[in-house]
Amino acid sequence: MLRICSFFLFIASLSAESADWIWSARYVITEDAQHRVIENGAVAIRADRIVGVGARAEIDARFQAAHRLDRPDAILAPGLIDTHTHAAMSLFRGIADDKKLQDWLNNYIFPAEAKNVTPDFVRWGTRLGCLEMLLGGTTTFTDMYYFEDVVAEVAKEAGMRGVLGETIIKFPVADAKTPAEALQFTEKYLTRFRNDPLVTAAVAPHALYTNSDETLIAARALANKYNAPLLIHLSETRQENDDSLSTRHMTPTKVLDTLGVLTGRTVAAHCVWVDEADMAILKARGVGIAHCPSSNMKLASGVAPVVRMLALDLPVGLGPDGPAGSNNDFNMFEEMDLAAKLAKVTTLNPEVLPASTALEMATIRGARALGMEKEIGSLETGKRADLILVRVDRPNAVPMYDPISQMVYALKGEDVRDVMVNGKPVVRDARILTLNEAQILQKAAEYRVKVSASLK
Ligand SMILES: [Zn+2]
Repeated sequence: MLRICSFFLFIASLSAESADWIWSARYVITEDAQHRVIENGAVAIRADRIVGVGARAEIDARFQAAHRLDRPDAILAPGLIDTHTHAAMSLFRGIADDKKLQDWLNNYIFPAEAKNVTPDFVRWGTRLGCLEMLLGGTTTFTDMYYFEDVVAEVAKEAGMRGVLGETIIKFPVADAKTPAEALQFTEKYLTRFRNDPLVTAAVAPHALYTNSDETLIAARALANKYNAPLLIHLSETRQENDDSLSTRHMTPTKVLDTLGVLTGRTVAAHCVWVDEADMAILKARGVGIAHCPSSNMKLASGVAPVVRMLALDLPVGLGPDGPAGSNNDFNMFEEMDLAAKLAKVTTLNPEVLPASTALEMATIRGARALGMEKEIGSLETGKRADLILVRVDRPNAVPMYDPISQMVYALKGEDVRDVMVNGKPVVRDARILTLNEAQILQKAAEYRVKVSASLK
């Protein structure tokens, strides 16, 4: 009998497809087109791709895996996608809270940056940011900062996916004295990271009000030359809109459209003060939107018309924005929770943005915002293997009636136990595998002293 059994197992293993990993969990949230949630499910991974998603018994029968990770007390979900942040600013975390945006930017952030931003600052700040993001289940981040080539190097070192935009701004900054110099820097950077498996190099003119029309047009041309995304802050505050209306008689969205800046892959952060005509433009141009509820609440920027954007089926993702005063962390679980609650309280309707939509914004709709929905954002055969296992055995996670509701309203970043990006495990048992955590925390403490002294 034993001999017959081993014979069948031998035959089965001969016909099984090979895989590098099988990850299994109590529930698999796929975020595929049918929004399937599979109880006792598993995902098979070969190299950097997902090769099978289904019931655990089915996946186990079909694949012979070199390694496996079984978490019967966890949810397996697509890695979370952050569509707007400034990772290196983690070293300014909480430097100036409770200020108005322009006061915060002009009197605190821009001066602090002028005195402190160097490649070394960006390297350690981004390491700290990537460490926090990966431990919290974010597998893709969308970044706008200076020395973005260093951000890209760190993303690769951390094993994290990034859409990373070099900032272009009208005043002299650490990596460029003029916008022309910034454009040159950006072109070199785009060339260097072309066709990288983890890094999508991008062009990031800071905003309409911090750039000349000529620079914005040149930034678009540069992005299109390399088929790179353009990242920009758009209609974040009422003042930005009022200034644009009084000086140019057009909304910021209309100005960008008139200049041709939206013709190509674009991700616009905030879009708080967009009106119906603006949303029609954003839809027509296929612009991705990064909704940043924490930041918009903390800086009292206003409430983006997200419910209307979703009704128009705009690709709206979520972003924590910066940690320096507009949030102050990189927690995508918090952004999902706040996106749902902010939409409810401002419309006095608890039905307008349900948990399923909030999770979709942090995954597949976020991928659409970045123009990467064919590669990431859901657990489907053929997609990149970006996945997270989130434990559901803690007091805040039991009992569980609905895994999606649990993800959005009950679970926290600290519940993330394992993370894989592009087929490589980067977090195991809530420990980072790719970065030196102790050294990063030590450097953050050193930078605190340095930054404080520079501001005296
Ligand atoms: Zn921002």
